[in-house]
Amino acid sequence: MCGIIGYIGGRRACEVIVKGLKRLEYRGYDSAGVVTGDGEGLHIRKGAGRIDPLVSELGLLNMPGNRGIGHTRWATHGVPNEINAHPHTDCSGKIALVHNGIIENYLELREELRKKGHTFKSDTDTEVIAHLIEEELKSSRNFEDAMRRALLRLKGSFALGIVYAGEPDRLYFVRNESPLVLGLGTGENFAASDVPAFLEYTRKAVFLDDGEYAVLTRESYTVKKLKTGEKVEKPVQEIDWTLDMAEKSGYPHFMLKEIYEQPRAIKDAIHGNSDLIPAVAEEIAKYSKVFFVAMGTSYHAALVGKYLFQRLAGKIALVEEASEFRYEAENILDGDSLVIAITQSGETADTLAAMKLAKRKGAKVMAIVNVVGSMATRVADITLYTHAGPEIGVAATKTYTTQLTVLTMLAMELARKLGRMREEELKTLEDEFMNVPQLVESVLSHAGGLEELAESLKDQRDFFYIGRGINVPTALEGALKLKEISYIHAEGLSAGELKHGPLALLEEGVPVVAITPSGRLFDKMVSNIEESKARGAMVVALSDSDELRETADVLVEMPPVNEALTPIVYVVPLQILAYHLAVLRGNDPDKPRNLAKSVTVE
Ligand code: GLU
Repeated sequence: MCGIIGYIGGRRACEVIVKGLKRLEYRGYDSAGVVTGDGEGLHIRKGAGRIDPLVSELGLLNMPGNRGIGHTRWATHGVPNEINAHPHTDCSGKIALVHNGIIENYLELREELRKKGHTFKSDTDTEVIAHLIEEELKSSRNFEDAMRRALLRLKGSFALGIVYAGEPDRLYFVRNESPLVLGLGTGENFAASDVPAFLEYTRKAVFLDDGEYAVLTRESYTVKKLKTGEKVEKPVQEIDWTLDMAEKSGYPHFMLKEIYEQPRAIKDAIHGNSDLIPAVAEEIAKYSKVFFVAMGTSYHAALVGKYLFQRLAGKIALVEEASEFRYEAENILDGDSLVIAITQSGETADTLAAMKLAKRKGAKVMAIVNVVGSMATRVADITLYTHAGPEIGVAATKTYTTQLTVLTMLAMELARKLGRMREEELKTLEDEFMNVPQLVESVLSHAGGLEELAESLKDQRDFFYIGRGINVPTALEGALKLKEISYIHAEGLSAGELKHGPLALLEEGVPVVAITPSGRLFDKMVSNIEESKARGAMVVALSDSDELRETADVLVEMPPVNEALTPIVYVVPLQILAYHLAVLRGNDPDKPRNLAKSVTVE
């Protein structure tokens, strides 16, 4: 994820762009860059770090020209440094572009272009696009045609801003699975990843759809289909958001926005990892001892990872909180051990310490991380990224479901490598897995009733979350979300554990949230629900089965989904429930008291 802002008109482009970048900084902030164009050609300045210092260091406000494009980056391929910062150029330096998203087939395209003599400067997936257009330009009628032909070869997600020195009167913007919106002014036009970037200048917006591109001049805008080049008529929308609302894309809080971003984030996690998974799974298969280490929400993802490895691939794995592992694992680590560390920020102190211990003991260390170039990626031998984009809300949401996405991909591939599942069975699961973004989308679009439910529960003092098997971690995560942002006491536990103590706490009306997908463990869960009801509990069941309509006090209807995929889908209503409870109790869910986004101290 990143921020793009483009301008063409009568003002100094750099001024509009710098303001826009500041408004988009929440979308990415590890590096930034600007390209402007005037009669002389293109001018590019870029560097690593946040926008404010870069503006003075690079003199971003002294760039000539009335058209230009800016980018604030959230790296997915290549560490955040000056060379990898956008814009990227072709060999001639006449084509410059910025990109938001992931090009899945960049490795094969780069190879092909290298053979044709192109020289690459950066480690990004993005640069390949500039060279591909340059290559197509050799045999095309004009730039637009070359651009179209090149872009049709890309696989993955991309929003692009493109400027060509040979056409001083225009800019191009493209959208495919990453957002892009045009802003229409008088004698000037804008384009951006998000409305706040240009809201100061215009409230008239045209939202591009996937597979469309726009040609922007000072006086006009034309939207066309990428596939055919034919024109598309687009409605102009009047934006009535305040700036604060606009930064959150109309959502009242970043947390809610991030919850709703999950279908997109999961798709990016799939796009960004599908090429890497086979080799990584191969590596995992070599080790007889596999340890997951993590903290907080990442620890819950690790627990799901363990279930997936064991159930799908028959691979035994242990899970430990990094804060414990770092002091307890000394005697069990050796060259036959693989430690898989999961951390959103890549800077979690305990997780880093656990990784370093593992390295000292000769173990192989792998990291599943959201922030590119973070410390964990430097310590690890192997890194997989979750590609969730920046998460501003302190309570993890989209970074959890993308961690689960990566772990599911690893477990399925491991099952293949270890011959633990029949190929048809695996294929069916993989097909269902590719449908997970749609399932999450459908859960989100039916989430209306959860606010009402929250209203009826907001004065409760204790909650219990129960699940079995792969959804014990879902129960733990549901309880953690509630604790973090609503400040209500909650316990997550395996349903079997109820009778061994916690049942004593159940009184009339205490909410018990039961994760109850149909399947193997359904009947067992129903018994636990009955037990709770017999003690007066108010049972909220999440299920795809109608059977619970009678038994549960409230049924949150879920779509049917393969057991291995339930953790990703079932956590979504729990996030939303916790969110509404926090808001109804007057808390700011984005900034819960006493908590910080990444825990960089012990
Ligand atoms: N994949 C590109 C990169 O790593 C774009 C990332 C973004 O969306 O900021 O540079």
